Amino acid sequence: MRRINFIIGVVTCIMSTSQVVFCQESKGFDFSSNWTYGDLAKIANVDSVELTWLEKNVPADYAHQVLKLVSHLTMPSACQLLPVYAVYDGSYQNKLTRSLLDSLFIRCPDGDAGVVHNASLIAKIRKKYAYTEAGFASKPPELPGHDPVVGNNLKLSFDFGPAETILSILSSGGLPYDTIYKRIATHPFDAMIHHRNQSFYNFPFTREKLANCLRMAAGNLPLDSLYRLMNPNGLLHFAEVRNHLKDYRQILNSLTANESNMLDLVKIRVLPYSPDKIIIDRKVSFFFGQGADGWASDDITGMDLEYYKDDYQTMLRLLQHETFHTVQNAVKTLSKSNSKEFMPYQHMLNYIFLEGTATFIADPNPKSEEQLIQATKLGVSLFEQATKAFQDKKGEEMDQLKTKGVQQSGPFYTMGKKMTEEIVVVFGPERIKKILPLGGIVFFKTYFDAAQKNGNKSLFDISVEKLIRSLPNDYDGEN
Ligand SMILES: [Zn+2]
Repeated sequence: MRRINFIIGVVTCIMSTSQVVFCQESKGFDFSSNWTYGDLAKIANVDSVELTWLEKNVPADYAHQVLKLVSHLTMPSACQLLPVYAVYDGSYQNKLTRSLLDSLFIRCPDGDAGVVHNASLIAKIRKKYAYTEAGFASKPPELPGHDPVVGNNLKLSFDFGPAETILSILSSGGLPYDTIYKRIATHPFDAMIHHRNQSFYNFPFTREKLANCLRMAAGNLPLDSLYRLMNPNGLLHFAEVRNHLKDYRQILNSLTANESNMLDLVKIRVLPYSPDKIIIDRKVSFFFGQGADGWASDDITGMDLEYYKDDYQTMLRLLQHETFHTVQNAVKTLSKSNSKEFMPYQHMLNYIFLEGTATFIADPNPKSEEQLIQATKLGVSLFEQATKAFQDKKGEEMDQLKTKGVQQSGPFYTMGKKMTEEIVVVFGPERIKKILPLGGIVFFKTYFDAAQKNGNKSLFDISVEKLIRSLPNDYDGEN
């Protein structure tokens, strides 16, 4: 008998608890109203510390939006699904927010107290992400005027297809997963996935990942909207694009209207330094997507628009820089000389040559005069140390110094730009055309000749010049 009583007691208890919960939900606090923190403080079991934190740290309209959306869930504990969004887009790996996301997994208080609890967790997570509201000036491109570009061997065009697909999915208000999956099953998206799968990406793209993040960014369910409020740059940046659909639509319209003008400006900058014989037919495809602002994979050259927004000047510089790399690739015969012993050193010279000349054509991250001087100085110092390491047969040390010189468009880019400037001043653009297929050793030798002819002191110590001049190559740097 006692056993039966106990069971009946437990059942009664469960029933009464669930009745209480149901009651609280049906007559709950109206979070859609124009509430004050005084009103919230009267909610049963509400955590006063969390309330005070919200009041002091979170803009009122944000707090209203989040509380309203959490209250629209069937139960506040549905927020346990929010960290799953962060698993999909990879941001769960972010150490700054991991413990707070884990807190969302813990069962929250029932009813209105749970709404406040989860809203404060969401607001705390939002504050951990470095994100400022996107800066759209909404201005059309201000590009310099120019003479018409006469017949040339450089064919360039824009492809807006991938960006249009993404904008159309994000404006749809929520398409089914398989529809999105099929719409991104195209060659340009394959190339993007291919690019983002290289070993230096910690969280590689897959079609499943892209389709899921697009679905969540397009969705209008309270949980979708809550995640976008919690991580406004999340879902591979698609959350941000969704929040600024009109701005991005305007940018695509401006780019369409200015396509031939922008591409002419690319040609005008690149053609004087490009060998006449090569033929280039190149399409630049616009995308959105976290991980890279400009990239090339398979036969696709991609630019991810959310990194530029309406900064057309930066876009133009990047187009000029990258187009020159295409020219270099078309003429490349860089590694035909030299022994195995010299190869690692020659590779470094080639790298400085390729990035230095492309940075001379256009520097995607322009620097002040002072920054240019400092970066060149640092580049020369790293290069001289790397040369010494090479002479001392310390290959690993040389590699480390090279990495310092090149990472994040580092000082070797600026140093190579400075060397190119000297060559162009002394020998003219024709000389760059001529040495383009010949590689880094010839580039350095030509620079030494130019500095000598110009009566300028070389950037490098004489021992470095002697070493490089002693390296064999197929071209003697004639004047
Ligand atoms: Zn480059």
